[in-house]
Order: sequence, then structure tokens, then C-alpha cells
Amino acid sequence: MRVDLFHTGGPKGEVVALDRAVDDGPWPGSRTRLLDETNLGSHFVEVRDFRTNRVVFSRSYSSLFSEWEQTEEARRVARTFPESLRIPWPREKVRVVLERRDKNNVFHELFQAVIDPAGPESNPAPRPPVGKVWTVFENGPAASKLDLLILGEGYAEKDLPKFHADVKRLVDILFTYEPFRSRRADFNVRALDLPCAESGVLRPDSKIFRRTPLSVQYGIFGSERYVLTHDDRALREAASAAPYDFLEILVNDARYGGGGIYNFQATASVDTGFAEYVFVHEFGHHFAGLADEYYGSDVAYATGGAKPEPWEPNVTADPAALKWADLVEKGTPLPTPWEKEPFEKQTRGIQAERRKLVASGAPPSALDDLFRRQMGLDSKLLSSMPWSGKVGAFEGAAYEAKGLYRPSADCIMFTRDPGGFCPVCRRAIGRVIDEYSRP
Ligand SMILES: [Zn+2]
Repeated sequence: MRVDLFHTGGPKGEVVALDRAVDDGPWPGSRTRLLDETNLGSHFVEVRDFRTNRVVFSRSYSSLFSEWEQTEEARRVARTFPESLRIPWPREKVRVVLERRDKNNVFHELFQAVIDPAGPESNPAPRPPVGKVWTVFENGPAASKLDLLILGEGYAEKDLPKFHADVKRLVDILFTYEPFRSRRADFNVRALDLPCAESGVLRPDSKIFRRTPLSVQYGIFGSERYVLTHDDRALREAASAAPYDFLEILVNDARYGGGGIYNFQATASVDTGFAEYVFVHEFGHHFAGLADEYYGSDVAYATGGAKPEPWEPNVTADPAALKWADLVEKGTPLPTPWEKEPFEKQTRGIQAERRKLVASGAPPSALDDLFRRQMGLDSKLLSSMPWSGKVGAFEGAAYEAKGLYRPSADCIMFTRDPGGFCPVCRRAIGRVIDEYSRP
């Protein structure tokens, strides 16, 4: 069952309202392990038996709304974001309770609704078929495997052979990264052909206008390279063609971009020189709730003030009480020294060049060249320090130069360097794989 909601907010507060409950295709998850124990995400949904109030199902996720409310726009105007809760179709009446996490990691109830699967709010009719599902690889029944669905956006009918090639290329790359590589047998991967009229997606700041099936677009929250869809309904209607636990949308475009929100959605543009990196990095956000470990870049959020402990498993505000302390070798100084000033100087130089290129309308390949140069400089610097490759607490993470710490000098959540996920991110991913791949 999919419970469709509207999540509205602005200067006057926040309201979540029920839209409808509909069939969401075959249930992809376990039928015995129904409670979410990952402690990830900004939101937590509990399904309680109406008579006994016993929790029969729970799941965590992060919302686009909770990202938007950190933007400057949210202080001025109200906006509505469609959102949905995917739960097993209940046998009897249930109470669905949605909670959100506060700054101190305490959950508070935000919304609740009583859903009667036989009542007028529930529509069990299967949704009309859209698109065509095909299997990339399959290792077992959906209930005991992690089901990943790849969707395409901005692929015209003539581009479908390219979509198939892009899916194979990017999925192959994902499974060269640990821990996906050694846990490949726990996954099923399927893809959905969903052609649109014309190649490409909406890029408002480039004056490229499209109406595509999933409404994926560049320029989310004013950030030129932030690519997502606001249209959760369209995304869920399409995705329900296949059993899926997680998904990623391939964006048929040569402009650098992507986005990833925990247990909600992820995107990656496929024709840039860094498509493989973006695909894996954004999947890290979506799959394991990993935070960006980078900082000082022009991301879309307003930051500042005191730093509470983030819920994300790979960033901390407290180097003295590390949540990954068991992975730190004895004798590692905390905070861990690294070449912070030279790195920041190098980054500032690259960002100034990048702004110039973007302002002058340079082709995407010029940006790729710049990022390639940055990658060379970054990997050299970050791999040649006394604590390179070790787990510690390196200051500078999650858009903050000070007060937040990342677990390793380098990681795919920090730079575009080769080398993959740091040990803390690997473990976080492994935990989600464990959670979803048990029968
Ligand atoms: Zn990491």
C-alpha cells in the first residue's frame, strides 16, 4: 500500500495531510522482519494495529520537505511537497503515525491517520501499467533480496538502447565499490523503460524546457547541479511497476548533476565525465543516509549556529565521543590532523574557476576537465598525509568547515577521488544490506 501525503510548510509552520491510499504493486520487503532498526533518516513511520496499538511495521526516510525547510525560501513562503509512505497492505484497520526528528535526535509525532484497507480512503485497484520492466540481474525472491530499480528520465523512444547501455555501465560500476562488490548476491536489479517525447530534462537556468514523465529537473532549490523530482506521485506510480526497496533515476543529460535523499529518491546525469562518481555518491545518500562529507561548496542550504549531533552515520559534532570509535586505531589523535588549509586554498581556487566557467556558458566538457584537474590535486594531497587512509575525526564535513568531523581524510562522500567509501561509510552501507536482505 502507498499512503500519499501532502507535506506543506513555511513561515507559519508545518502540516502533513492525507491524500489517499492506493495499491503500490508487489511488496518488495521481508514479510517477517517488519521493524526498521537502522535509526537513519529525518522521518520515521510506524504502522500500529488499530485495536491493540501494537507496532506492526516501521520505516525511516528523509523528505524533500526537510531539505527545503533549511533553505532561505522557506522563511518567506509556503510550499507543498507530495510525499508517500510505502507499507505492506494491512489486513485490518491500522493507525499510521509519522514522526520527525528534532535537532537533538528525539522523534515527535507530526501526523497520524487511521487507514481502513476496506474503507473509502483505500483503493486496491492495480495502477494502469506504465513502461516496461526488465531485469538487469536477479539473485532470488524480492522478500529476501535488496531490490534496486533503475528508472530513466529524458530518454526518448530512440534513446532506449542508450538507456540500457547506461544502466549496465552504471550498475556495473556500483558493484565494483565495496561493500556492494562483496554483497552483490544480496541484490536484485531491475530497470524500467519509460520513454518521453524528446531527449533531455528540464534545465530552467539553461532555458531548456521539457515535460517528462517523472518531472526530474536541474536547479532544485536554486542549485544548478541539484537534480531531483518534486513529483513524488509520478515517481511512485512509475516505480510501482516493479518490486523495489531503493531506486535511482538516470538522467539523460550531459550537464553535471544529481541528488540523493535517504530512502526517497536519487538521480545522476549520465553523460558527464563524472557520471559514475555521481551515481555511486548519490546512491550513498539514498541507500544508507550518508551525509555529504564535503564543505565549502555552494550547496543550497543556509548554515550557521551551534552544531547538534547529526543523525547521519558518517558525520559527528563530537570527536570525543565518536559513534565510530570502535574503528579508530589506538594512538590516533582526535581530532585528527590533516592538511586542512592547503586543501581549502586549493578548493577555493577551483571553485572560482568553476564559477567563471558557468557564468561564461562554457560547455559541460570544460567543467569535466576542471573537475579532473581538481581530482588529481585532491587525491595527491589527501593520500600523502600521516593519517591518510586511517579512521579518525577530520574537521570539515556536511557543509561546515568547523565543528563537524568526518571519519577519514578522503571518501567518495568527500571528493571525486578514486578510492571509494571510507570504512565508516562501508559499514553503514553493510548494515542496510543486512537489514533488507534477511528473509
Ligand atoms: Zn565516508
